[in-house]
Amino acid sequence: MSLIPLKPLLDYATKNRIAHGAFNVNMITQAEAVIEIHTIFQSAAIIQGADLANAFMGGRADFMNGTLEDKKLGAKRIADAVKRIAKTTNIPIVLHLDHGKSFDAVKAAIDAGYTSVMIDGSSLPYSGNVELTREVVQYAHARGVSVEGELGVLAGVEDDVFSEASTYTNPMTVCDFFRKTGCDCLAISYGTKHGAVKGNNIKLRKEIAIASMENMRHEGIEGALVSHGSSMVPKYLVDEINELGGKLANAVGIPVYELLEAIPCGISKINIDTDIRLAVTRNLRRMFIENSLVKKEFPKIWELMQAQPEQFDPRYYLVPIMAPLIGGENRDGEAWSTLLRGIKRGVMEAVGSAIVQFGSVGDAPKIPQISLEEMADIYKKKV
Ligand SMILES: [Zn+2]
Repeated sequence: MSLIPLKPLLDYATKNRIAHGAFNVNMITQAEAVIEIHTIFQSAAIIQGADLANAFMGGRADFMNGTLEDKKLGAKRIADAVKRIAKTTNIPIVLHLDHGKSFDAVKAAIDAGYTSVMIDGSSLPYSGNVELTREVVQYAHARGVSVEGELGVLAGVEDDVFSEASTYTNPMTVCDFFRKTGCDCLAISYGTKHGAVKGNNIKLRKEIAIASMENMRHEGIEGALVSHGSSMVPKYLVDEINELGGKLANAVGIPVYELLEAIPCGISKINIDTDIRLAVTRNLRRMFIENSLVKKEFPKIWELMQAQPEQFDPRYYLVPIMAPLIGGENRDGEAWSTLLRGIKRGVMEAVGSAIVQFGSVGDAPKIPQISLEEMADIYKKKV
């Protein structure tokens, strides 16, 4: 199947009071795994590439310093791969840019084949955020591509998205933001946090989602809400990583029951990145300890993992095999296939549990297969 925009998924999720997980990937193997597990559960899939994931995919091990040219190359690589894999399955798939920081970065993703984009103008003053988001909406909607904005500031760290403190989203301005920008969905700040250290006993301020949706209903505004920084950071994964020589201190996520309560309040898309990194890291740590063949074949990876026990972002320790990973190269040999299987199974463990928890199992046949051209026409009629 070909890729679809995010909008039909959001409409379905909002109407049926379920949420779709949106899963960050940094390499083609991970995208394959996300699609495979969604196919098993017959759930529509949202694959996310963050702005800096595109830089990594563009060949930058120091992805934090990636240029626009690196991001263009990376976006094209991942989009081409996802389109190719999508042809082998019957589920609808969305390829979404996470935390696009500038109009140019968003344009690069759309031109490469992304079917949905986030423009994160949350660090700008309100009027600047509105202006930037509106500009992106004009470019994206003309091509049938969906747009996510952000209002309010999330605390925590994720790639180059960092904030010491959070500012909750004001539900009174949500309608105004949707009306002025025309975006399809909005990431709100209501108590979630980027990264693996989210703090104990987090209580989400679900009343922010309720009030936002209620205001929108009164004003006749269509739109969905998105929950960023929502990894659950399962305790068993943290414990196992630490037992396998890792050093994760204070890693605590959003309690799953808090997320489940947020869904009927209007949250339709829940972003998951950290949980995938954790499950992959646990698998690889165990593999290097137990599998002498893998250890012998890839000694540099294990060295990097041991030198950085606190690190759970696979991009930092998979650098020695970065080229084949971003190129989607299939190498011969048992060690190579075992390593890839460890990565894939980690992704599937984290993603599969989110698909089940958030309620998207079996919805793939119910989501309309709208092409970007058809979506562009729908947007045009709305203006
Ligand atoms: Zn985020």
